[in-house]
Amino acid sequence: MEWIKQVLSQNALWSLLLCIFIQFISCNTDDLPQRARNLMESSPLIDGHNDLALQLRRIYKNRLSKINLRTINTTRTNLQKLKTGHVGAQFWSAYVMCSAQDKDAVRLALEQIDVIKRMCEDYEELEFVTSSLGIEITKKIGCLIGLEGGHIIDSSLAALRMFYELGARYMTLTHTCNTPWAETSSDDLHKFYQGRKSLTDFGTEVIREMNRIGMIIDLSHTSSNTSREVLAISKAPVIFSHSAVFALCGIKRNIPDDVLLSIKKNGGLVMVNFHTEFIACRKTANISTLADHFDYIKKLAGPGSIGIGGDYDGVTGFPEGLEDVSKYPLLIQELLRRGWQDEEIRGVLRDNFLRVFRDVESIRDQQLNLRPSEKEIPEDELSYTCRLDLQNFQQRSAKASGIQEISISAFTLITYMLSCIFIFW
Ligand SMILES: [Zn+2]
Repeated sequence: MEWIKQVLSQNALWSLLLCIFIQFISCNTDDLPQRARNLMESSPLIDGHNDLALQLRRIYKNRLSKINLRTINTTRTNLQKLKTGHVGAQFWSAYVMCSAQDKDAVRLALEQIDVIKRMCEDYEELEFVTSSLGIEITKKIGCLIGLEGGHIIDSSLAALRMFYELGARYMTLTHTCNTPWAETSSDDLHKFYQGRKSLTDFGTEVIREMNRIGMIIDLSHTSSNTSREVLAISKAPVIFSHSAVFALCGIKRNIPDDVLLSIKKNGGLVMVNFHTEFIACRKTANISTLADHFDYIKKLAGPGSIGIGGDYDGVTGFPEGLEDVSKYPLLIQELLRRGWQDEEIRGVLRDNFLRVFRDVESIRDQQLNLRPSEKEIPEDELSYTCRLDLQNFQQRSAKASGIQEISISAFTLITYMLSCIFIFW
């Protein structure tokens, strides 16, 4: 044993051991970017919310011919950055500002869908998809549409169904305003339909119809009470397409613990928002601040309840290091550093969303025998007058057709009499 002590006491051996230790530490750290890249290459991200289309309207009036989406740098999103960020599918938000409620929200939404579809047709890197299978089999970046703001359907289930026909696959029930049938989390920003609490009866019918047609219910922006009520009645899993955790940043726009637990029970998903004012309640934050939200949801609701909804181009403040859509791998690196398992991260990147989407499609397929709902919102629950008064219109039409019938009968009688006179003549 004496000779071992002698050897160990030699400086050279200590130096060698130190070198091996440093090598081990640095190898493991250096490995993280590669591990993150490998994971994202085999499981490209499905992101729940991007507002590029809003910027296209705001800056370019939707004139796609004037810009090159591969290299555009007035936005946080372009095609090159999406590739670098390993984005495999993107929900593009067809967002309509609340001030258009009860005015031309339907037209504005149609125009946003139009610009998204044109964008996805114009660039060979993109492909418009409308199903879970579509996302899985495309070799391009899958383009999906999310409607942001229930005011877009103008309280019409027929309009909801037609937006689905156009390819929209989720609808955020409210934006920052109440609709006639659902309560927002930001009811102090607009004066629409004040006093709405959670869902009305018509709101419940909207949920049933969304379940029936296979439109994913998005609870981001809704009040906690709306979320609770929807979670209690929805047959299908629901999502928060771009939200964060209330316990870590206590604003009404974020999700409280009891709702996170209900999401777990519902089989739904929280796609975490990156906006600094939602994750840190201030203008600055770093990647670690954001990763805390992932850790929190994982601990409370499990890794199967988490996804990513960056909200790029919808808000201004992003964590240091995550300034645009090319930076997603840095977040994945941070989760790996915190000990997240590969399978958990694959879930966050895409598998959890695909599970939810498949479940929503399967609930739709189980209800094929149900007829489309013909329920209408009661007139007295709407507070505007620019709709055509269909009741008067119908009465007027009935009156007009009555007059027409009388005049047709008179004409027939006169013709008959004249023909009789002519024959007897
Ligand atoms: Zn939003």
